[in-house]
Amino acid sequence: MSAPLSIAIRGAGIVGLWQALTLARRGHKVTLTERSAERLTEACSPYAGAMLAPCCEEESAEPIVREFGERGIALWKVSYPGIVAKGSLVVAPPRDRVLLDCFARMTLGAERLDGEALAALEPELSPRFGTALYYPSEAHLNPNAALTFLFEEIEKAGVVLQLGTGEAPQADLVIDCRGLAAKDALPTLRGVRGERIVVRAPEIAIDRPVRLLHPRFPLYLVPWGEGLFMLGATVIESEDAGPATLRSALELLSAAYALDPAFGEAEILALGAGVRPAFPDNRPRIIPSRGYIYVNGLYRHGFLLAPVLAELVADYVDTGAIDPEVFVADPAQR
Ligand SMILES: Cc1cc2nc3c(=O)[nH]c(=O)nc-3n(C[C@H](O)[C@H](O)[C@H](O)COP(=O)(O)OP(=O)(O)OC[C@H]3O[C@@H](n4cnc5c(N)ncnc54)[C@H](O)[C@@H]3O)c2cc1C
Repeated sequence: MSAPLSIAIRGAGIVGLWQALTLARRGHKVTLTERSAERLTEACSPYAGAMLAPCCEEESAEPIVREFGERGIALWKVSYPGIVAKGSLVVAPPRDRVLLDCFARMTLGAERLDGEALAALEPELSPRFGTALYYPSEAHLNPNAALTFLFEEIEKAGVVLQLGTGEAPQADLVIDCRGLAAKDALPTLRGVRGERIVVRAPEIAIDRPVRLLHPRFPLYLVPWGEGLFMLGATVIESEDAGPATLRSALELLSAAYALDPAFGEAEILALGAGVRPAFPDNRPRIIPSRGYIYVNGLYRHGFLLAPVLAELVADYVDTGAIDPEVFVADPAQR
């Protein structure tokens, strides 16, 4: 390894937190600065469902998400005791079963469950759906618990956290993890709005993320534990982080009710929108530029991919190693 460096990291979302933890554990002297005066008030990260779903995401994402995502799950498993590794399910109403076949063809790693096998995993879903796709290698988290854990771990690792400052202190190296705010330097970065609803339904016993396929209103739900469920999420080409719309709420809630009518009695705890930072091809990028490194564009996969990109940046800092899948030197692609 090279001599320890002083490293300033800008932005305490999921990307900056993983970056700070990884570099501090490798012996570097890390300062993490966050523009907002309180933790996570301006970040996209707390809006995430925190599914770690490299196989299912392949339906619409580049293969890099599955390849890196499997490493992401492994890194979470060795670091975070709160990870829930029970796989995930995909279901469709009987009239839309053809969508299940399409989904299976577009992804790797699915097992086809019959009614009995589905009942053994999620008894509440079996009578209505009768069959499902099961992705046993997938996992999920409660994002707020995981983010709280990371803030505690960076402190234990000796990271200096400075809240309420938009500037980076003097350092040998600056790593920019500002999410969408880095648009000022990365002109092709864009925001993709995602609305989500958090409900409490302690009587519903669903243990793993479930995706409901539907031609117009697809839905996923993520069980966060203690009776909480995240219902998500819209994908809208907009950088508006304002409140969720009535139309989106209706669609998400109707789909949840179709998945399990017991959601009719759920209490709505939070309705809101985060804006995902994304490049035009929706692939993440690490962009080194003379003593400065941008890590951005994690789009729908910040929780899944942040630990992997943190390792790749740390390898680059320590040895100069570059993974061509994700490192970008061409200024035109910034
Ligand atoms: C509805 C929804 C559902 C999602 N579900 C999932 C999922 O299931 N699984 C998954 O893996 N991902 C999911 N995501 C994606 C994930 O949330 C994002 O990829 C991730 O949050 C991006 O993290 P980030 O750290 O790059 O950005 P942010 O979380 O936005 O963090 C950037 C931080 O930088 C700070 N900042 C800005 N300017 C400055 C400055 N000048 N100085 C210092 N700090 C600054 C901001 O205040 C902010 O705290 C979801 C996203 C949404 C919206």
